[in-house]
Amino acid sequence: MTSMEELQQKIEVLERQLAEKDKKIREKDIIFEFILESSLAGYWDWYIQDDYEYMSPSFKKMFGYEDHEIENKPQSWQKIIHPEELQGVFEVFNAHIESKGEKPYRNTVRYFHKNGSIVWVHCCGQVIEWGEDGKPLRMIGSHIDITLLKNVEKKLQVRNKELNELNKSLKEFTNVVSHDLQEPLRGIKNNCVFLLEDYEFTPEITATIERVIHLAKYSKDLLDDLLMYSSLGIEATISEVDVYQLLLTLKKAFVYSSSNVEIEIEGNFPSILSDESLLTQVFRNLIANGIKYNRSEVKHIKVGFLAEQNTFYVADNGIGIKERHYAKIFRIFCRLNKKSDFPEGTGVGLNLVKKIVEKHDGRIWVESEYGKGTKFFFTLNNLECDNEEQT
Ligand code: ADP
Repeated sequence: MTSMEELQQKIEVLERQLAEKDKKIREKDIIFEFILESSLAGYWDWYIQDDYEYMSPSFKKMFGYEDHEIENKPQSWQKIIHPEELQGVFEVFNAHIESKGEKPYRNTVRYFHKNGSIVWVHCCGQVIEWGEDGKPLRMIGSHIDITLLKNVEKKLQVRNKELNELNKSLKEFTNVVSHDLQEPLRGIKNNCVFLLEDYEFTPEITATIERVIHLAKYSKDLLDDLLMYSSLGIEATISEVDVYQLLLTLKKAFVYSSSNVEIEIEGNFPSILSDESLLTQVFRNLIANGIKYNRSEVKHIKVGFLAEQNTFYVADNGIGIKERHYAKIFRIFCRLNKKSDFPEGTGVGLNLVKKIVEKHDGRIWVESEYGKGTKFFFTLNNLECDNEEQT
């Protein structure tokens, strides 16, 4: 074989390899375009100094155009972007260039579809070639169509606003109703007390009046609980709550109001982003139950935090709870004991506590030795703002 024929053969082999590679690249392009299209994305490749910008067919399709309908130059997208967005786009672009690519080129903007509708696009880009004079030469980027997401977000915002307004009026309504109902209840109770103080009654009449006093107090407690319950849906006022301080304040209040109560606080308590009144409600209800359902001479309550398990607990030396009732006690209006044994209580407290704990993305459970005492465990995470601004 002559050297000429050998050369010819080598060229043919190389050509075949080239054609093979070309085919593979085209296949990859098709796959890439398919992925882009099915993920509602497109890409662009901008040769800044040459005023040429390649835009992928999927990019153009996002706005309803065929590949040939949009010329590959930057002026093309500048014609279909919403005019109010253009300045912002250039600001982000300039910041990217001035920071030599440190500040990311990233923004969410509106474009016009060929049919006149708005297309929301999330755009990311990066200069990948710089000239020796520091000027940007080539920039690549991607566009993702997020119109669907934006529409859902808008609907959600409207819904949220409506819900917040509804919640507010519900709270106002509950406040007014409970205040209006509490006034006559207070009147009934006070008048009954005056009657007992000022007159002598037969034991039967005295017992009846005492029952009325008790019922009035019970109705007031129920109203207070329901009021707190209804406020759960209202937007929380979030701040950093020092749980240890909160417990010290609660301890003082409990110990001052009853002589045979001991409250022990143990462990290093964390601070939590929360609504202080909600957190107080959790600890107050659990401690109050530990005292209420307790026949020990000295009612001993221990509040602690297990750092390793990130778990709080409230333990008592009270009457205890049978295992078969563990789940039931968290249901609203569930009361295990006879009213004659434990007249105080509405059956709302633990359900309220559970709801608050769940609002903190936490969980609550109970362990008990019947006749000896009960220990409630719960976890709490930072409370997140309901109406957090989208960035
Ligand atoms: P209540 O207002 O009746 O105390 P809760 O929802 O706080 O309502 O509690 C529900 C029921 O669970 C109580 O009625 C009581 O029977 C039982 N319970 C709650 N805490 C304790 C406790 N620490 N020890 C024993 N029983 C408890």
